[in-house]
Amino acid sequence: MNYLVANWKMNLPPEGIDAYMEKLRASRAHAAPMIVAPPAPYIRDVVTRAGGHVVAGAQNCGDQKSGAFTGEVSAAMLKDCGAKYVIIGHSERRNVYHENDALIARRMAMALESGITPVLCIGEDLREREAGHVARFLADQIKAAASPALESGEVVIAYEPIWAIGTGRNASGTMCAETVGDIREALLRFWPARQATAAILYGGSVTADNVGDLWSNGRMNGFLVGGASLDSSKFLAIYDTMRPA
Ligand code: PEP
Repeated sequence: MNYLVANWKMNLPPEGIDAYMEKLRASRAHAAPMIVAPPAPYIRDVVTRAGGHVVAGAQNCGDQKSGAFTGEVSAAMLKDCGAKYVIIGHSERRNVYHENDALIARRMAMALESGITPVLCIGEDLREREAGHVARFLADQIKAAASPALESGEVVIAYEPIWAIGTGRNASGTMCAETVGDIREALLRFWPARQATAAILYGGSVTADNVGDLWSNGRMNGFLVGGASLDSSKFLAIYDTMRPA
């Protein structure tokens, strides 16, 4: 299954949610759904304007079911609001808010137990890439986040090299194709039930200008888009590139 995810981060589209969602809804659909992940208070606004090939997602979920966890929103609550997907382990959560592997693993388990599809973000920093340690680094992140006992539901993996996020510097299609192989190998070792079924997306400065190479050569199942997702026209241009010939 292919996907295109819009990660608005802590932003709203300048054109406004209404106009943005209307344009996505009016676009010519193909098999890949577009998942729009706004800041949490706007999830319902997105849900009520979604439909067809446009669905709502969230940017994080709690690692517990309920209780004294100020500031957290549980996966079940997100599902209740209508979110169908949740981004987990984004590098901004890992690096800015110091979320560690154990916390991310609990968030993953909560999403799967609640019936909301996790989009697990993994990705190396420049030092790991230059040292030739990408495969090992990604395998460690997958091993740490995997819940082999949880067999139901779907899992989406977003390969997001840290050096490419919001930097204007993107991976090449060839680099992605190689990394997809590394990720499938790691899944085979640490989460075998997901080896063949997990969709693998790429994220990191994807734009309408560079998506052609990534889509034709990258062997990915789609993209997670930050900056370029805030403008419906730019986001839809990426979606159109993924249209089957
Ligand atoms: C992201 O938010 O995950 C991301 C990939 O951002 P950008 O497209 O701006 O690099």
